[in-house]
Amino acid sequence: MKDLKLVVQRFDPVKDASPKMVEYAVPKREGMTVLDALLYARDYVDHSIGLRFSCRQASCGSCGMKINGRPRLACYTQVEELGGEKVVAQPMDNFAIIKDLVTDLGSFFDKHKAVTPRLVREDGEEQERPTGEYLMTPGELSKVLQFTYCIKCGLCTSSCPTVATDERYPGPQALTQAYRYSADARDQGGAERIAALDNSHGVWRCHFAGSCSYVCPKGVDPALGIQLLKRHVMTGKPPHAKDEASKVWKAPESGR
Ligand code: SF4
Repeated sequence: MKDLKLVVQRFDPVKDASPKMVEYAVPKREGMTVLDALLYARDYVDHSIGLRFSCRQASCGSCGMKINGRPRLACYTQVEELGGEKVVAQPMDNFAIIKDLVTDLGSFFDKHKAVTPRLVREDGEEQERPTGEYLMTPGELSKVLQFTYCIKCGLCTSSCPTVATDERYPGPQALTQAYRYSADARDQGGAERIAALDNSHGVWRCHFAGSCSYVCPKGVDPALGIQLLKRHVMTGKPPHAKDEASKVWKAPESGR
């Protein structure tokens, strides 16, 4: 079988003036992923290739990079689906390069944390000494379910033209998580979360390019989440179907 031509963008900001593309010949095998090819090059040809990975099953989001011009997870991309002859691996756009294919996700996680990505409750006593569970109806769950699949890989943010031009813009991942928690029937922190995003660098900066949804490897639709968040900002109402599910469920007196 003919070798795969693997082209990797190499750049060490400490030593190099500019990036260069380096080609490696990688023996192909059936079912080979781009991550497999990169690991072969690193293990058998050049130990200094910088890349980040962990789970190898599209769960951790560590191996996000630009592959043949499109943001993808290296572990989730088969060499054959790219034609099987040539693969070009580059670091994600919109992030600073630490080395080669490894990018700095520090600001990405800061923006995620800034939207308070957790359920906010006002019943402190119940939080301290729980007496039951917080229930959701299937309908309420369906409003947020797809947004819970986010693995924080950063691919959507790397594809976003607005992130590329406004470093204060939270980006599709953070905005989608702002919607995910505000739309959760158990959450009571929507007003504050939304107020922080109602400005010209916040939710209104999205002009619906849609590339975020196109590249997401987990089937999340951040472009939809952002539009729903805009509606939430306009109406001032949390997008809950009703508030009943946020009540605390009490265990029955007997039978348990
Ligand atoms: S929304 Fe999709 S592309 Fe964006 S960080 Fe989450 S999983 Fe990755």
